[in-house]
Amino acid sequence: MSASDAAASPALNSTLCLVGQGVVRGYAIGRAVVMSAAALEVAHYRIADEDVAAERQRLCQAVEAAAQDLHQMVETLPDDAPRELGVLLSVHAMLLQDPMLVQSVCQLIEERQVNAEWALTTQGQTLAEQFALMEDAYLRERSADVRQVIERVLRVLSGSAQWLPNLDEVDTEGSLIVVARDISPADMMRLRGGKFGAFLTDLGGATSHTAIVARSMNVPAVVGMGLVRALVRDGDLLIVDGINGVVLVNPSLAILREYQDRQAAFLRERDELKSLRFAPAMTLDGIQIRMEANIELPEEAADALTAGAEGIGLFRSEFLFMGRAELPGEDEQYEAYAAVVRTMAGRPVTIRTLDIGADKTLDGEATVATNPALGLRAIRYCLANPELFNTQLRALLRAAAHGPLRILVPMVSHMHEVVATRRALARAAEELRDAGVAHETRVQLGAMVEIPAMAIAIEPFAETLDFLSIGTNDLIQYVLAIDRGDTDVASLYDPMHPAVLRLIAHTINAGERVGKPVSICGEMAGDVRVTRMLLGLGLTGFSMHPQQLLDVKKEIRKAHSNALRVKVASALNRAERIDLAALSA
Ligand code: PEP
Ligand code: MG
Repeated sequence: MSASDAAASPALNSTLCLVGQGVVRGYAIGRAVVMSAAALEVAHYRIADEDVAAERQRLCQAVEAAAQDLHQMVETLPDDAPRELGVLLSVHAMLLQDPMLVQSVCQLIEERQVNAEWALTTQGQTLAEQFALMEDAYLRERSADVRQVIERVLRVLSGSAQWLPNLDEVDTEGSLIVVARDISPADMMRLRGGKFGAFLTDLGGATSHTAIVARSMNVPAVVGMGLVRALVRDGDLLIVDGINGVVLVNPSLAILREYQDRQAAFLRERDELKSLRFAPAMTLDGIQIRMEANIELPEEAADALTAGAEGIGLFRSEFLFMGRAELPGEDEQYEAYAAVVRTMAGRPVTIRTLDIGADKTLDGEATVATNPALGLRAIRYCLANPELFNTQLRALLRAAAHGPLRILVPMVSHMHEVVATRRALARAAEELRDAGVAHETRVQLGAMVEIPAMAIAIEPFAETLDFLSIGTNDLIQYVLAIDRGDTDVASLYDPMHPAVLRLIAHTINAGERVGKPVSICGEMAGDVRVTRMLLGLGLTGFSMHPQQLLDVKKEIRKAHSNALRVKVASALNRAERIDLAALSA
């Protein structure tokens, strides 16, 4: 039966519409493959005193088998596998090998005299809750990692390690849409074998594995759907709208036709966009805009080039430090930074110094800060840990010998932090010089504008620093007193609040006055809905995820910057909300 036959069938004519968070743009139309969760319905029972030792051994063997499986996957990762997968699989292997995990589960088996599955799920819940309470969105979503590694061990214990469909038996003719509660990196790895049209999950958010890996595979994905696995059956015809986060189950023929048209238009537009790769990002009135990319791993520099980025506007260096037991040494950091500089072949590369939060120390020991968002994080953390900072600065100065590298400092609020950073840089350069190590001292130093105090009193920073990069993600959080990861107050997280826009405009104007470049590297820069408004604020530098670059460039090329500046300034003067629709008129 073809897709249109199925849609025309009277039995299927009531279309069910499900909503989630669209994390990879695009459309897919295809059949559902529902991932089973049966293996996870584990038995809970008490054990006799004399069985405790055997139960502990059963647990250790299962953990060992699951870890070995992950290691083997890392070692045999095919060359064309999404790069993030290797990192994510290693994080899982590391979590499993944490002796604390096995010890605490063994303790539960012994103290409560329960079976390994029961003890494991209990401990898993405790750990996942601890992660879920963390302030940093990335770390918070790592509670999913804990849950997934526990599920892995549970599957080994229950003898049902194969929960995925056997891809050889699945008809991969048409587009298949994976429907799951959640998809771990290891499962994503297996799923790569099939040609899937989209991924749908009950759990997860913008930085979940499904989102990260699907983005790197360029496959539409909708996550956080709540009940998709319960409501969709194997073989159901699905339309996935990854742009709006909507899934239509067994659509009517009219709806199907409508989405076939939308999908064709989307694909046409994608192709057209590719032709903009080398086109200048210039507005209709001749204002040249700098288009740079945000990356988190050195390998992503290649994606930035493919998308036509003029440089790296933000390399979040903390991703080199996370998910591992030991800190990366100077040589390892140098190699990573130099690799990006080399890939970008003469284009500027902006590397942000370690932006780690106070809720998680680097060696994995959780500490409790009174208010982590306002605690010892980012530059505060680095200045409080001079040896760690020195190692990074030395690696950065060495990498700068290979091409234009700029150092970006996060979470600056005081001028003395800039002074201390310059002093730390001078010390690193002096040490390298004394040791005869090749390096470059003429490195530009800039700061993230993400704390309101800095944006309000921006003038001395604009004069002293070489460039400024506005981190709207944090700026909005601190201006509006809204935790950027707290879903309960998410509706108040408002990038368009006049107070936020006034601070952005104030920063841009200060940069203009002293001739220092100002860009935005927060999520707003890649949101094509606000591109015109940002041009109206006078922004001339954008840095975003490589996949967003061409959409934003297209919008820039259709805009008239000076006319937008007049409209935006008049609304801002009155502290009114800006009407985005009026800017497109
Ligand atoms: C920001 O705060 O806008 C930013 C780009 O940094 P991060 O999202 O890494 O905090
Ligand atoms: Mg930030």
